[in-house]
Amino acid sequence: MKIIAIANQKGGVGKTTTSVNLAASLAALGQKILLVDLDPQGNATTGSGIEKTALIQSVYHVLLGQAALNEVAIRSPAGDYLVLPANRELAGAEVELVDFPNREFQLRWALSSSSDAYDFVLIDCPPALNMLTVNGLAAAERVMIPMQCEYYALEGLSDLVQTIKRVRHHLNPQLEIEGLLRTMFDPRSQLAQQVSAQLEEHFGDKVYQTVIPRNIRLAEAPSHGKAAMHYEPNSKGALAYQELASELLRRQGPEQPPSPSEKE
Ligand code: ADP
Ligand code: MG
Repeated sequence: MKIIAIANQKGGVGKTTTSVNLAASLAALGQKILLVDLDPQGNATTGSGIEKTALIQSVYHVLLGQAALNEVAIRSPAGDYLVLPANRELAGAEVELVDFPNREFQLRWALSSSSDAYDFVLIDCPPALNMLTVNGLAAAERVMIPMQCEYYALEGLSDLVQTIKRVRHHLNPQLEIEGLLRTMFDPRSQLAQQVSAQLEEHFGDKVYQTVIPRNIRLAEAPSHGKAAMHYEPNSKGALAYQELASELLRRQGPEQPPSPSEKE
């Protein structure tokens, strides 16, 4: 089981779009997937076709130890993957977790109970470096960072890299950057081309070859409760995320040494 947190403290960079579309694309390649929605906005939940206001239990109850993960996870009606859903109730967890001595590890423990059930766990983090994101980073082995190639993107990235270093130091020594994903990319923009080149220069092959273009179908699909590949299969956005799923699987290939967590 590989656990990947999809994180960037900046909002609107494509975390949720990446989470949902990657989950559906990996599932279509035969992978067993759990998508964890860690954002009280519940966009990954809605985007997976699950009515968030009707939830009796959610990731909130799992984080607080009030429910087991496998009781709460539900299958996305449109895609062949499971979702640990979220809604606004999750916003309260931030405060309630304060009383927990090991509050940073609540998600990690919840996931450890089902370590063989999934090939990949994708964690859609909220747009903040808060206790929820820390739970995501403490549970993960890898961080995928979606980003737009804008002027301030690199600056925001250094804050995130610092946070990842702190989490590695204090909570999760095995945490690594899985990759940087260029999202909403417009090849006609000079600035986007420049920032993209800078990214490749600084981060080398940590930058995915796959680039996600700006594509209206990716923005429309969530209102239908579907990943783009189940809404408009031949759209550029749907195809790009399928390519990303293939690239991700290739990168997990035998050339990488097994991570220590696989012994757990
Ligand atoms: P985040 O989770 O980082 O806040 P979202 O995935 O919710 O970001 O994306 C922000 C907005 O941009 C949403 O309305 C989403 O539909 C839209 N969006 C995301 N990626 C793309 C894309 N590649 N092309 C067009 N629209 C996109
Ligand atoms: Mg989001």
